[in-house]
Amino acid sequence: MIKGDAFAQRMDRPMAETLADIAILGGGASGAVTAANLMRKGFLGGLAIVSRESAVGQGIAYGTREMCHLLNVRASNMSAFADTPTDFVDWLTASGCEVEGLAQTFQPRAVYGRYVRDRLEQAMHTSACRFTPIHGEAVGISRGEDGIRIELANGDSIVAKKVVLALGNLAPYAPRECQGLLGSDGWVPIPWADGALDRVEETDDVLILGTGLTMVDLVLSLRSQGHRGRIYARSRHGLMPQRHAPAGASPVEPPKTVKELIDGCREAGQGWRAVIDSIRASTPHLWGELSWKERQRLLWRLMPYWNVARHRMPPEVADAIEGLVERGTLDLGAGTVISATETNGWIWVQFNSGPVRVKHFINATGPSCNWKQAKVPLVESAVLNGLAELDPLGQGVLVDEEGRTDPTGEILAIGPICRGCRLETTAMPEIRVQADRAAELLLA
Ligand SMILES: Cc1cc2nc3c(=O)[nH]c(=O)nc-3n(C[C@H](O)[C@H](O)[C@H](O)COP(=O)(O)OP(=O)(O)OC[C@H]3O[C@@H](n4cnc5c(N)ncnc54)[C@H](O)[C@@H]3O)c2cc1C
Repeated sequence: MIKGDAFAQRMDRPMAETLADIAILGGGASGAVTAANLMRKGFLGGLAIVSRESAVGQGIAYGTREMCHLLNVRASNMSAFADTPTDFVDWLTASGCEVEGLAQTFQPRAVYGRYVRDRLEQAMHTSACRFTPIHGEAVGISRGEDGIRIELANGDSIVAKKVVLALGNLAPYAPRECQGLLGSDGWVPIPWADGALDRVEETDDVLILGTGLTMVDLVLSLRSQGHRGRIYARSRHGLMPQRHAPAGASPVEPPKTVKELIDGCREAGQGWRAVIDSIRASTPHLWGELSWKERQRLLWRLMPYWNVARHRMPPEVADAIEGLVERGTLDLGAGTVISATETNGWIWVQFNSGPVRVKHFINATGPSCNWKQAKVPLVESAVLNGLAELDPLGQGVLVDEEGRTDPTGEILAIGPICRGCRLETTAMPEIRVQADRAAELLLA
């Protein structure tokens, strides 16, 4: 059972300064799973979690209410806990889910959000630690005599001995060429915002910028709200995510070099997915071996191709999307935005591949990975005060293998903000391992 009121009541409590042994900044799945791990491992001190949203544990990915938004990882690999691999499937079963082959299914992300929240609630009820969820935004961080001081946007503060940065995904970045549309009714800069698609009428034509999994979500949302108009989707390369195989393939031996990876995929034929998946655990190590220049080159040149092979659509979603492409309802293509203007309620977007005229234009370029460009106040403050350093590509903060951002080990980072150092760090199979390890280090 989800007992959301418990969070809401605690979050309304007025606080000026909170003292905590550990403060977790960010209340998405990463923050919630770290907190749950600490409690499960017997932490008895004061634990504060700062969350911009009132619902801890959901974040962008699992805060969706749309049941058509499915996980892109099979249930069997979505446990929140590294030491209990079947936990999500067990929870589904205990919740009354009786689907055949449950472990191989792709569950709705909203259900996963309930699972994470439920596991956190469960840990809270059995733990003797002093847990303080704080609703707000952390905007400053510095080291003082009394500990690490965290400033919140409302003027409150927290003083903690140790801190976990679990800040999650950045909002998508809108290309410079779209800046002129700011304030326009038809322009949707953040696709995850509540009511983002409310203005779209049944027969309106829609243009989606981006052809990845965010585009897939949006197309499914539009169809489920009864939209029947034309949907255009454009991205630099026009590549759509590949589909998952009907059932999980048997694991294969991971290749040791990029050449071996490519050769392995070629030789594996239809079994290429297993080869790609096999390097998931060793990706941070392989990535870490590259120079920053090589990483930059790969991010720019290889990432569009890597992303569509690595981040795949569940088969049922792929069937729906491919059906729309075949029927011509979804017009998918390559194109780079050259200009975008609004005239008399129409948005005109000029791509290098030709113009598109629509009523609504949605930015679905996915979470931005550029922390330098995003200028997040908390991260800027951490850098300014010597508690963390941005990596040379601005893809996140510099962390060691354990996730420490500075030599004292008092500040750890987990999840998407470690992308520059780890690359493979944004999804639950990696986050649960990081959260487990972070809890161990915090308890040591
Ligand atoms: C649309 C989408 C779908 C996804 N689907 C899957 C999937 O199916 N399977 C999978 O394994 N992974 C998926 N992912 C990857 C996803 O990144 C992780 O699974 C996981 O949700 C990351 O959780 P997080 O807590 O790190 O990040 P987030 O979900 O982004 O949560 C971070 C939270 O921290 C808060 N926050 C940030 N800064 C501050 C601050 N300064 N003060 C207070 N609060 C702050 C944010 O408001 C947010 O609530 C998906 C990602 C997206 C964007």
